[in-house]
Amino acid sequence: MRRSLAAALLSCVPAVALAQGHDAAYTQKIKEYTTDPMFLTELVDHLPASAKVPSPEKVLGYVVGTPERLTYAKDVHRYFRELAKASPRVRVSTMGTTEEGREQILVVMSDEANLARLDRLKQITARLGDPRGLSEAEAKTLVAEGRPVYWATGAMHSPETGSPEMLMEMGYRLAVEETPFIQAIRRNSIVLFTPVLEVDGRERMVDIYRYRKENPSRTPPSLLYWGKYVAHDNNRDGLGLALKQSQNVIKTALEWHPTVIHDLHESVPFLYTSTGTGPYNAWLDPIVVDEWHLLAYHEIEEMTKRGVPGVWTHGFYDGWAPNYMFYAANGHNAIGRFYETFGNGGADTKDRTVRGQSTRTWFRPNPPLPQVKWSLRNNVNLQQSALLLALKFVADNKDRFLNNFYLKSRRSIEKPKKEGPAAYVIPGDEPRAGGISDLVAALQIQGIEAHRMSAAVKVKEKTKDDKGTDVEKEVALPAGSYVIRLDQPYSRLADMLLDTQWYNVTDPRPYDDTGWTLGPLHDVKTVRVTDPSILKAAMTKLADGWRAPGSVTGSGTVFAVDNRAEGQVASLRFRLKDASFEAAEEGFEAGGRKFGPGALIVTGADRASVEQSAKDLSVAVVAVDAAPKVKSHKLSLPRVALVHDWLNTQNEGWWRIAFDRYAVPYDYVSVHVLRNTQDLRGHWDVIVYPPTGNASIQRQIAGIQTADAIPWTPSEKYPNLGGPDKTDDMRGGLGFEGLANLRRFAEGGGVLVAAASSALLPVRTGMVEAVDVAEARGLMARGSVLRASIVDRASPIAYGYGETLAVYFNQAPVFDAGPAVALGGAQRFAEIFGPPTQGRVSGRGGPKDPDIPQGRPYVAPPEPPKGPPASIAEIPEEILDFVRNQLPPEDRLPRVVARFAKKDDLWVSGMLDKGEELADKPAVIDCPVGKGHVVLFANNPMWRWQTHGSHALVFNTLLNWDNLDAGRPVSRKP
Ligand SMILES: [Zn+2]
Repeated sequence: MRRSLAAALLSCVPAVALAQGHDAAYTQKIKEYTTDPMFLTELVDHLPASAKVPSPEKVLGYVVGTPERLTYAKDVHRYFRELAKASPRVRVSTMGTTEEGREQILVVMSDEANLARLDRLKQITARLGDPRGLSEAEAKTLVAEGRPVYWATGAMHSPETGSPEMLMEMGYRLAVEETPFIQAIRRNSIVLFTPVLEVDGRERMVDIYRYRKENPSRTPPSLLYWGKYVAHDNNRDGLGLALKQSQNVIKTALEWHPTVIHDLHESVPFLYTSTGTGPYNAWLDPIVVDEWHLLAYHEIEEMTKRGVPGVWTHGFYDGWAPNYMFYAANGHNAIGRFYETFGNGGADTKDRTVRGQSTRTWFRPNPPLPQVKWSLRNNVNLQQSALLLALKFVADNKDRFLNNFYLKSRRSIEKPKKEGPAAYVIPGDEPRAGGISDLVAALQIQGIEAHRMSAAVKVKEKTKDDKGTDVEKEVALPAGSYVIRLDQPYSRLADMLLDTQWYNVTDPRPYDDTGWTLGPLHDVKTVRVTDPSILKAAMTKLADGWRAPGSVTGSGTVFAVDNRAEGQVASLRFRLKDASFEAAEEGFEAGGRKFGPGALIVTGADRASVEQSAKDLSVAVVAVDAAPKVKSHKLSLPRVALVHDWLNTQNEGWWRIAFDRYAVPYDYVSVHVLRNTQDLRGHWDVIVYPPTGNASIQRQIAGIQTADAIPWTPSEKYPNLGGPDKTDDMRGGLGFEGLANLRRFAEGGGVLVAAASSALLPVRTGMVEAVDVAEARGLMARGSVLRASIVDRASPIAYGYGETLAVYFNQAPVFDAGPAVALGGAQRFAEIFGPPTQGRVSGRGGPKDPDIPQGRPYVAPPEPPKGPPASIAEIPEEILDFVRNQLPPEDRLPRVVARFAKKDDLWVSGMLDKGEELADKPAVIDCPVGKGHVVLFANNPMWRWQTHGSHALVFNTLLNWDNLDAGRPVSRKP
């Protein structure tokens, strides 16, 4: 009886489940390391056994999620290579290396049949991703034959440590587990893993974690550097694609056409699956927004059914900016998404308190627990369970997701016929060849096609006349214009990068930048064309890696080059470092061409190197026999230092990228060097102080203040610490010595450049005169593109610029500058000087008539002040007598080079409210200090490899460092 019952039961169980046992010891550890069974699901509560494929424990010596064990990226990679050696269902390839030379890998997993026809499957996704000329019937056949590609990426953010551990175990599970669930994933999809995206930061993080555990009595270093350039912002490089890790991702995405890219992050409890609060990116196909929700709610439902608390969506992140790495998917008709799971920042098991997110609300009906003991294994369990559920869902619905991918691609191609526009055009008469090349490169690296027109065309565009009525007008586009057609697969990304953004301030608070329009940020004119006839114009596609041709025309040994405020001007100067360069202070004519102020006159260079440079840098050079007769000054090569502190290197890395990309050399120095070097002037001519983190001035001066020394340097035990700079002791900041040294540096003729947050330092410490921080309580301009007017066109800092320039500005600082500031601000000035008139007093006559007191002859009053004086000369004599002692000498007053535009002209793209608080305020200020200068930027001219149009503000300052006073309205006394 018993035997027959057992036999009957056995016959109901699928044979495969019987064939495969569990790795009992490993399974036991999973349970032990999980703090509560509610943080476990049936998908991950065991590890299948395999006789020939090694589990992570067999290779590494420990179970995934073991307390106090983190795995270096190199060992994670070693594990996957062992796995690939043993399993016919796993392959490993290299995606490329980072700036520091570490490898990023791509793990490919599917069943044997799919891997055997992988090239064919890749062809299918590529064809569905570019369905130009594909019939619906053909697409249907391809969808049926194809497999969706789901790419999960781990450890982009180095302190978020769980995902590489989890992905190793999940890779093993996908390779060996013989349940129908896992078999369906293998059969119906291709799974890609990049277990560690930020490989440089991962190695440093594991070193730091080990340092923490092995030196419990010492203060551990913080993770000051992740990769060579940026830290947490590495996932905000999806738009600029400046980092090699991002370039490797986009290259891989364009090769594989993944259906989903899924980043694994850690922050909020217990598992947030992305959708966002909105406002959502307005250029995406609504299908993808639905897919975000579809996948998120599938995971939430399935995890909730399994009794796991705290899996939710919506209330974290917005969904607006396309600068995230997963826009390699969203921007390319695929699905970009992410998790935030609960991480402990290492591998410790800790008691954690959950505050805000433990409250129940509509998008979190099953919230995280307010108090919890949390382990690395819990984190692994939740990530892995939800990701498996997502993979299974996509595999089960493979035709639906592949068909959506095809539809989104097709609808992108149909964009000009439906919602429009038809194209963006860079007019062919735009002279900034370097700027255009940079903008085209920014599009091409994303897989966006660019064309060039061989003949002029006229298109009809609707605009509004003065009265707001729609009128149609003809727009002439010259031959040689560049066309970004929007009947191509990535038209939506092209549109979102080139269109302007409107961010309503009443929308939820933005998670990141609100504006990013690339044309204005690159200072390149782009025309939005809705007339589809543009697509019929004669044009040829530009090859990948295209650059506008440079040229050297004419003969002679003197070379004239126009300054068009491009980074390439600086490249040229430093390339031909032994040649003699002059900058013209006025316009001139040479070789039959007109040159503007700031044009370079080069002598002592051989023609072959000038020709090579012209070609590489897209510059037009005119050779003439004799130097033009024009007022000019020498451009002597500056010795440049670029500063970082020991608190946060996040923002200065973007500056190093811009300097490195244009091959502008610099010494990379810490604030300690400034503190310890009395004679900075003896070493450098220009000190560039990029924006710092959000540390207070006090913290910047004092730095880290702990009892024991904190090293940031490689050692035998911790080989990955240190780099790109290193020190035996991170403690201490700039110090008052550093401030005094910087001041002495400027007094001695040096130039200090400071921007955004770092510009507060010279202002608030009194290093400069007559500049102050203005109050802007209502201003809302979070990561916006705003217009600045060049108001002092004779300043070398403005060489090559037009009348206005779009700049990146993020909320602060707002400056005031001028003599009224020296007197204690506009309000104080008004007290001394009398308030600006608010119209006439009540009395006889009309609003413009004089007021005539009775019983005495009429005497006209003085002209009322229009506002604070711009120079000392504008201060009336009788007031000046009274306040002279409070004013710096006229030649010490700041020179405002650029101002934010008037209120109605200020907005270009992104959020702007209470713009009047920023309108007309100085954006670029050249402050004389002793024989030198402090140059302040309220905007950030070097931001995320997106603000190419502003780069020359910095580079002009560098090139003209010892002649910044050229064209100064009030000359400086020697
Ligand atoms: Zn993160």
